[in-house]
Amino acid sequence: KGKIDANRLARALRYAIQRTAAEQAEWQSPMYQLAKQQFLKAAQIVGLDDNLRERLLFPQRTMTVTFPFRRDDYQEVETVFGYRVQHLLTMGPTKGGLRYHEDVSLGEVSALAMWMTWKCALMRLPFGGAKGGVRIDPTILTGHELQRLTRRFTTEILDMIGPDKDIPAPDMGTSEREMAWMMDTYSQQVGYTVPTVVTGKPVVLGGSQGRSEATGRGLVYLIVAAADHLEMNLKGSSVVVQGFGNVGSNAARFLEELGARVIAVSDVTGGIYNPNGLSVSSLLAYTRENRVLAGYPDGEAISNQEMLELPCDILAPAAMQNQITQANADRVKCKILAEGANGPTTLEADEILHDRNVFVLPDIVGNAGGVTVSYFEWVQGTQNYTWTLDEINSRLHTILVDAFRRALDRSARQNIDLRTAALIEGIQRVEQAKLARGLFP
Ligand code: GLU
Repeated sequence: KGKIDANRLARALRYAIQRTAAEQAEWQSPMYQLAKQQFLKAAQIVGLDDNLRERLLFPQRTMTVTFPFRRDDYQEVETVFGYRVQHLLTMGPTKGGLRYHEDVSLGEVSALAMWMTWKCALMRLPFGGAKGGVRIDPTILTGHELQRLTRRFTTEILDMIGPDKDIPAPDMGTSEREMAWMMDTYSQQVGYTVPTVVTGKPVVLGGSQGRSEATGRGLVYLIVAAADHLEMNLKGSSVVVQGFGNVGSNAARFLEELGARVIAVSDVTGGIYNPNGLSVSSLLAYTRENRVLAGYPDGEAISNQEMLELPCDILAPAAMQNQITQANADRVKCKILAEGANGPTTLEADEILHDRNVFVLPDIVGNAGGVTVSYFEWVQGTQNYTWTLDEINSRLHTILVDAFRRALDRSARQNIDLRTAALIEGIQRVEQAKLARGLFP
């Protein structure tokens, strides 16, 4: 008996050493730590099986590629880093966006892939989570350069993606234009047109009605549901939106349509503040012309940090991760924090906000409209049939509000914050699926 125990001990020791090595793997970035801590907190509350907790802590497949890239007017060739991470292959194909940003790393992409897993499971979509990225600043590249970059990156990850394997979509720094190039590159390689290899494509190539504005629209559906829950009137309420990209600008537009007053918006160049309310259509016209918000005349310039602390009813961080932190959480003055971005709030900030009674609409609920309409796009592509915008929006509303209610019920039942409740909803579905599929071999 003593011998068996010694064997077990040796095995446990060996595992601990391997585990330490894995802990030091390249994906162990601050953002991955955040995703991991959120997951571990939820796993502990729900009593997730130890083996499954261990298994889900690491991405199932990660791929780092480096490839040569030549700018239009230089002879030098740069080496560019790109990543694709598939966190979980159990639920069906993997799904998640592709990000172009100068700070993209394997750790960031891995964290985002894990969040995609919980988001898809929470929404009950038949996908596991994935994410990809290219470490480059897309704002300084020409259209030709972006096209070459996208096509080469697609070629490098070609074996990993596919309509039944892994389906990219737009994320920060990418849009329907990049999806069209990806779809074209993939189709050229396999020899026939495969629209379902990406979502978020232009409608003319098999994209879905309503996909381009889906994340912003979904966020607003959920803000309406949250306001109902809090018995708050949205008409005349004040709104601050950080980020004026795809998510932020559409959220601002739909909130304005509902009669809310958008008092501040921002982009990388800083914020514009007008306590009497900004006109979203005129902001959109300005950014179409000037690309950035800087210099917009009808308001005062304020910094991105200042705007997070403005008194308002709804604050929607819809730009970057790591915005609401220990350093500013006690000065955030909104009633609803509606997360359009992925990972805008740190773990410490979450606790401060919870104690201060700020209603946090967590990212995996708040920004799930994008991947939900991506799912509709994929289904329409698979069936070679298209749905109307009304059908898309009403199905989107049903799925989002149902997930929100389930998370809200659980948070009340277990007396836990909404983020943890939403994560548990996702994690439990994955747990059930994993246990049902069993262990191979
Ligand atoms: N990039 C979006 C997200 O973070 C959408 C992903 C998708 O449509 O697959 O959810």
